[in-house]
Amino acid sequence: MIDKEVIVIGAGLAGSEAAWQLANFGVPVKLVEMRPVKSTPAHHTGEFGELVCSNSFGALSPDRAAGLLQKELRIFKSLIVQTADKFAVPAGGALAVDRSKFSIALTEALSNHPLIEIKRFEQLDLPSKENITILATGPLTADELSYKIQAFTGIDSCHFFDAASPIIYGDTIDQEIVFKASRYDKGDPAYLNCPMDKKNYINFRNELIEGEQANLKDFEKESANFFEACLPIEEIARRGIDTMRYGPLKSIGLWNPKWGDLFDRENRLKKASSCSCSIKERRFRREITKYGRFSN
Ligand SMILES: Cc1cc2nc3c(=O)[nH]c(=O)nc-3n(C[C@H](O)[C@H](O)[C@H](O)COP(=O)(O)OP(=O)(O)OC[C@H]3O[C@@H](n4cnc5c(N)ncnc54)[C@H](O)[C@@H]3O)c2cc1C
Repeated sequence: MIDKEVIVIGAGLAGSEAAWQLANFGVPVKLVEMRPVKSTPAHHTGEFGELVCSNSFGALSPDRAAGLLQKELRIFKSLIVQTADKFAVPAGGALAVDRSKFSIALTEALSNHPLIEIKRFEQLDLPSKENITILATGPLTADELSYKIQAFTGIDSCHFFDAASPIIYGDTIDQEIVFKASRYDKGDPAYLNCPMDKKNYINFRNELIEGEQANLKDFEKESANFFEACLPIEEIARRGIDTMRYGPLKSIGLWNPKWGDLFDRENRLKKASSCSCSIKERRFRREITKYGRFSN
């Protein structure tokens, strides 16, 4: 058992969980967070564990990597996952949270823990050898400390691109056009889906490419390298006419009620599966054309 105080620098998701676990094992913790005294280019508040991008923690199902990790963390009584469960919002098969309630609750829990002392300042130096320290300053580690980590590790290629999700006001959405559904009908119908025919899709793509773009932050202008696993939509659109519809906008697993009764569709598929191979394939293709590509 460690009886000496442990210093945790950075109260993001990693630092908050580390501080919580240590304190629950009876270890005194000093949790250092620079916000709101000094912010990062992506955070907006001084709350702990502020989610700067998607409010989703990924798939809920334990047969997916994210779901399995959540399950394991629940066994460890994880503060992050328990708080996420408490402030979950409908998200089909995913665990997504009300980000504001989530981070306020995290801040409260950590601030009220008798073994956690909160300090709000920017850590400028690498930790001293005398203390056990967890550095959890994340992808937006403040410059001063970041340079020192780079010098210490000899790695100078840390890069960050802000891919924060845009927020769309609900009352600007035409509810006559969109329909609510979750992919493959998993969980509640929690997402608003925008069906597009070919013309709408092409217009949408042109608007994305030619329309007003988000201003790049200074650190992004220096080297606009993209994180390939999480590209801004306008960059995906730029890469090719089909790139969006085979990527994040793929319309598989979604059924627009305006196409008719879903049950009818299942009957059609059932009939198709009893056909000889070539007919079955033809029907399947037709089904995909309607179900998985453009809608009319
Ligand atoms: C814009 C953006 C979009 C992202 N999108 C996703 C996504 O969709 N899905 C996903 O899984 N991940 C995403 N990430 C990665 C995301 O940051 C991590 O999943 C998660 O937040 C990392 O947790 P962390 O605790 O390591 O870092 P953070 O949550 O960033 O926490 C680090 C904390 O350290 C503090 N800090 C930094 N430097 C200092 C210092 N010198 N002294 C004191 N405190 C300091 C910061 O203020 C911050 O509170 C995104 C990140 C960003 C920035």
